[in-house]
Amino acid sequence: MSERGTEEQLRNRAAAVYRRLAAWWELNARDLPWRFGRATPWGVLVSEVMSQQTQMSRVVPYWMDWMRVWPDAAALAEAPTAEVITAWGRLGYPRRALRLQECARVVAEQYGNELPRTYEELVALPGVGDYTASAVLSFAFGERIAVIDTNIRRVLSRVFLGVESRGGAASRAERELAARVLPGEGREREAPGSSSGVCANADAGVACNVRHVPHEPSAIWNQAVMELGATVCTAQAPQCGDCPLRDMCAFLAAGLPGLGESRTRPRQRFQGTDRQVRGIVLNALRRSAVQAARGVAGGQSSGAGASGAVPRSRIERLWPDQVQLDACIASLDEDGLLEMMPDGSLRLPVG
Ligand code: SF4
Repeated sequence: MSERGTEEQLRNRAAAVYRRLAAWWELNARDLPWRFGRATPWGVLVSEVMSQQTQMSRVVPYWMDWMRVWPDAAALAEAPTAEVITAWGRLGYPRRALRLQECARVVAEQYGNELPRTYEELVALPGVGDYTASAVLSFAFGERIAVIDTNIRRVLSRVFLGVESRGGAASRAERELAARVLPGEGREREAPGSSSGVCANADAGVACNVRHVPHEPSAIWNQAVMELGATVCTAQAPQCGDCPLRDMCAFLAAGLPGLGESRTRPRQRFQGTDRQVRGIVLNALRRSAVQAARGVAGGQSSGAGASGAVPRSRIERLWPDQVQLDACIASLDEDGLLEMMPDGSLRLPVG
């Protein structure tokens, strides 16, 4: 593209890319359980929160279990916090679980257990930022709104501008491009028998295996561009030979200049990090909470009390660097992810 091109040329080009992508999406979209109108808007929001910094394929079993136990905001709002942290399992960044529960409480109490439908209301919910609010409006409600995440920025930049998207915060130019190439209003998306734009089974909290189409073109666009970025047009190794846009891509035509260059720092190794230590501590508390909940006598033999509290002596054996361990325990306490008992033992929050 170019920025030199006229608006009409850009629109025509975007329309051609849309047709190609929509056909590709129809055949190649991963069959994730919250897609194709099979989940409630709340279920879509849960999937988006879980997918932040965690691969979607890893999220699926957690999402399935989570939605079975807490199918709506009201159910999650009332759940014991320790169970919420335990169910988050190894999804990582467990503060997200607490924020999601805070969000559930607001939705249950202030919105009658239904997600609000405006950007302003969504983005005001705990733990919901620009991306999640836009994604829910597009994927769950079919609203025409540009969704901007790393994958979408990379694909749009490559295809239309012929340059590498180099990470960091989304620039104004990237936001403008995303808005300019977004398809216009289109076909009605509501599935037959549905009162809220999702499958009637999903409305009733029942698992559904049927794909409900059609979607709004803008929703197909957002999901298809994101999916292409996640599975084909990846950051370091785009599979251009298998790409449906290979004859329309300015980046490929230019010889993939600066492929993989990024202005963000390389990801920190995990081994030895505070993230690893926090995870080890939380896993010990989760195991203990599960044992306590099951009334397993092993609680005594393994050092876990009836409340699920793990004795300090056992905590200290979890990590050799006691200074780092203490700092991580303090940060988990600050985040509300554990409780320190008067005798120094630790447990998941009771609430
Ligand atoms: S042709 Fe290559 S660089 Fe262009 S969108 Fe497809 S995978 Fe990405």
